[in-house]
Amino acid sequence: MILLSNVSKIYPNGSTALDDISFFIERGEFVFIVGPSGSGKSTLIKLLMHEEVATSGQVIINNDDVALLKRREIPYLRRSMGVVFQDFRLLPKKTVFENVAFAMDIIGASRKEIRKQVPNVLSLVGLSHKAKSYPDELSGGEQQRVALARALVNNPAFLIADEPTGNLNPKAAMEIMELLDDINKRGTTVIMATHAKEIVDRMKKRVIAIEDGKIARDETRGGYGNED
Ligand code: ADP
Ligand code: ADP
Repeated sequence: MILLSNVSKIYPNGSTALDDISFFIERGEFVFIVGPSGSGKSTLIKLLMHEEVATSGQVIINNDDVALLKRREIPYLRRSMGVVFQDFRLLPKKTVFENVAFAMDIIGASRKEIRKQVPNVLSLVGLSHKAKSYPDELSGGEQQRVALARALVNNPAFLIADEPTGNLNPKAAMEIMELLDDINKRGTTVIMATHAKEIVDRMKKRVIAIEDGKIARDETRGGYGNED
């Protein structure tokens, strides 16, 4: 679970990105974080990944206050989260298989585990037939599915997606959303920051709307709302 309690983030230049944010995300939820550009969505995601540290308040993930984690404990926190980004961030000189395998390599998985698990996740995202392709041979939707496979290969408790459909055509975007929904139904908590009004309105999931660094709405089966 994720608990934010009165969290504020003020960057060193004095700009307030988050202002007294509190929410609780239960294991297994699917949550959209919506809001106009500059409202604080990316900052929120960086706090969850411990790429940035809250100026005040508490960020609690799986019962641990992340501010109190020792340096050597941070890799374990990161391992519990898979992340996908708008721009895919695949390694261009590695094949699809190698891109996914790399995430397992980093955590010291054995060759045997890699040979077993990579085909499993590639099949989950429908890309078994592209294992030997390179990223520039794939469509945008396919590249994002590789990124999803890589994010999921180590079985994270959370999947964090920052504008994952931002570079995709509507059809590829809906395919990614169906995959995220499947992944969520298998038990992974999904947290997705987005601007995509049609997607948010169609999915009918929990919506946390941020405006000017504050929570404007938190609705169980919400829509995007009227902002931006
Ligand atoms: P969003 O993801 O919703 O566009 P951000 O979290 O990127 O919002 O930004 C929220 C606010 O914090 C904005 O005013 C932005 O200019 C500011 N901000 C973001 N990152 C930094 C940074 N590294 N240093 C200073 N200000 C930042
Ligand atoms: P989309 O409809 O998502 O835009 P594309 O038209 O880009 O898809 O790609 C359609 C198919 O062609 C995909 O299966 C993709 O893997 C393949 N493809 C696209 N570009 C290349 C390329 N440069 N080399 C080999 N295969 C490609």
